[in-house]
Amino acid sequence: MAMLELQNVHTYYGGIHALKGLSIQVNPGEVVTLIGSNGAGKSTTLKTICGQTRAREGKIFFEGKDITQMRTHDIALLGIAHVPEGRRIFPKLTVHENLEMGAFFTKDKQVIEEGIERAFQYFPRLKERISQKGGTMSGGEQQMLAIARGLMMKPKILMLDEPSMGLAPILVEQIFEIITELNREGTTILLVEQNANQALSAAHRGYVIQTGEIILKDDAKTLLANPQVREAYLA
Ligand code: ATP
Repeated sequence: MAMLELQNVHTYYGGIHALKGLSIQVNPGEVVTLIGSNGAGKSTTLKTICGQTRAREGKIFFEGKDITQMRTHDIALLGIAHVPEGRRIFPKLTVHENLEMGAFFTKDKQVIEEGIERAFQYFPRLKERISQKGGTMSGGEQQMLAIARGLMMKPKILMLDEPSMGLAPILVEQIFEIITELNREGTTILLVEQNANQALSAAHRGYVIQTGEIILKDDAKTLLANPQVREAYLA
């Protein structure tokens, strides 16, 4: 059974038909990437999964459960973490406080501190900056903090929206290494990216989205070699 399955999902913003019958599947243990250009509907897909925007038609299942109409908070509690585009950390809060905010599911101090220690294992650089205000950190550090905050809930699936955006190549490498490591340790990953080369290199399978529709799906390796993909997304 797929861990996450979207069946014929349609999402609208007022009159704008942003997702036009999207169907995708993510199996347990996979890294799946959704690639596509600006405005194709990548962010909308993740927002629709976590209930931030609603599917007007179609169904979304998580571990066999219909989550299409569930509240965002309850969807998160099932183990679906969403790290939105643009590093939405709390700029006035410290690194430690930002991570505490990721622990919305518990008040147990010990659980929170264990979660923070675990996050620091992936991102040692954040530990050095534990008392620094989020907003004063570099773009790469903020992205790490955003991902680390998502990890606080020990998600079954981590959905990352363009984690490499605006980062220097060395940081992009680091972020992708961490994605691979998280997956190796059991986290399923749905990765939205414009950086198709990196994303397909890290993924098992990929989907190509264009104006709200899936136009191609295949093994990541096959997509990487596909001339149509190379021309449109790897140029
Ligand atoms: P990008 O890589 O530029 O973030 P994307 O593939 O993530 O692009 P979406 O942000 O999902 O694309 O946008 C899909 C479509 O929906 C676009 O046409 C966009 O203009 C539109 N859209 C997104 N958010 C809204 C909104 N809040 N109100 C109206 N239209 C929106």
